Amino acid sequence: MAWDFETDPDFQRKLDWIEDFVRDKVEPLGLLGIHPYDVRNPARNAVVRPLQRDVQKQGLWACHLGAELGGQGYGQVKLGLMNEILGGASFAPVVFGCQAPDTGNAEILAHYGTAQQKERYLAPLLANEIVSAFSMTEPQGGSDPTAFITSAVRDGDEWVINGEKWFSTNGKWAEFLIVMAVTDPDAPRHKRMSMFIVPASTPGVEIIRNVGVYGQENGSESYIRYSDVRVPADHLLGEQGGAFVISQTRLGGGRVHHAMRTVGSCRRLLDLMSRRAVSRKTRTGVIADYQAVQMQIADSYIELEQFKLFVLKTAWTIDKYQDYRTVRKDIAAIKALMPKVYHDIAARCIHIHGSLGVSNEMPFVGGLIASMVMGIADGPTEVHKVTVAKEHLRQYRDVSDPMFPDYSLLARREAARQMFDPMEELAELAEANA
Ligand SMILES: Cc1cc2nc3c(=O)[nH]c(=O)nc-3n(C[C@H](O)[C@H](O)[C@H](O)COP(=O)(O)OP(=O)(O)OC[C@H]3O[C@@H](n4cnc5c(N)ncnc54)[C@H](O)[C@@H]3O)c2cc1C
Repeated sequence: MAWDFETDPDFQRKLDWIEDFVRDKVEPLGLLGIHPYDVRNPARNAVVRPLQRDVQKQGLWACHLGAELGGQGYGQVKLGLMNEILGGASFAPVVFGCQAPDTGNAEILAHYGTAQQKERYLAPLLANEIVSAFSMTEPQGGSDPTAFITSAVRDGDEWVINGEKWFSTNGKWAEFLIVMAVTDPDAPRHKRMSMFIVPASTPGVEIIRNVGVYGQENGSESYIRYSDVRVPADHLLGEQGGAFVISQTRLGGGRVHHAMRTVGSCRRLLDLMSRRAVSRKTRTGVIADYQAVQMQIADSYIELEQFKLFVLKTAWTIDKYQDYRTVRKDIAAIKALMPKVYHDIAARCIHIHGSLGVSNEMPFVGGLIASMVMGIADGPTEVHKVTVAKEHLRQYRDVSDPMFPDYSLLARREAARQMFDPMEELAELAEANA
């Protein structure tokens, strides 16, 4: 098996271009008080569109897509390396046409959409002319989809949707929402729900309020009520009862990209805490001279490198085997590890910056909140750890050890003796060596 930790020189040149472009042109957009997803805002479009064209000219637009949809056919390793850079700037995913949740929604439409659905929803979504939302979580329960009660009932040529959805990110800007609803209440647990495309302008779609994550000025996590919302029968996505399978399609590669964007955010925090450590003066020198500070830098570097390698190894495995099933355990593992790595590095960055670190003049507390969000959004850490454990234990299911297993010292010694029987030869050897 070949192991190689080098990036091919041609692709490295692209990464260098992305790094310079994001630092010089894209990062400043995050300071203008506009939102990356507000596609109806002319001020946003005036600054974002020219940069999107620059990216298109470089052939780097929407690289996550397969070649059939105009993407580059880059594998997950290359996409991961790109996303590491994009993670450093809030506008970067939008400027490069790979922003969640549109990416996941586009994946669903590409896989399951009809030709008309692709033309009406997918094409403008890929061009970032519109944005979309994913409406799954409900107020009474998020982690447990079997608690969802939003229903869709067939009435002639239409489906009629009723219920409430909570934290549908970007609902207020979305042109359409992908809604998960119970269509077959008596079916087995994982066959009860179906996925629908719901244009946001459909009568009965009402945003109750837009909730903000702590520190956000204008929230974009929409609490939405669907009251007798009628969509044509052909707005069912995929098969009736197929919502679970479809939601898995949505999340595989996206989780790896998200993890690599987190690597990028952490890399930036480590960079900033290191700059502060070597420049903040104390009585005897700079704070980087203290071992206690060195420990924090070292821990951050070590944890970040471990995490990055784990993410890239997962990406590499996807590229090699082209099968998400093989990497289910590792995708869940990096999802579970991500909030902790991010949290600990953000906390150290704050601490090393002292009072400035906790102030609203630095972005670090935002990093701490973002790390907490990562432990909740797309399922809490506990749920992903359960997946890791179950997948891991699968290979051990058939082993039935006796009360004293065969790896006890007594059992192993006995097995070794039998292997080296007859004992006289062993005894002779022992005598010769005495
Ligand atoms: C910023 C953000 C954006 C989001 N965007 C979207 C979106 O676009 N669309 C959408 O549909 N949803 C979205 N969500 C919702 C997200 O998917 C849910 O928050 C998540 O599934 C958890 O559900 P919950 O918030 O109801 O928490 P709960 O289900 O109430 O869980 C709360 C806590 O209970 C514990 N817990 C729950 N279940 C288990 C378990 N099985 N084992 C052990 N412990 C458990 C955990 O500690 C967990 O953190 C978003 C959430 C956030 C924070």
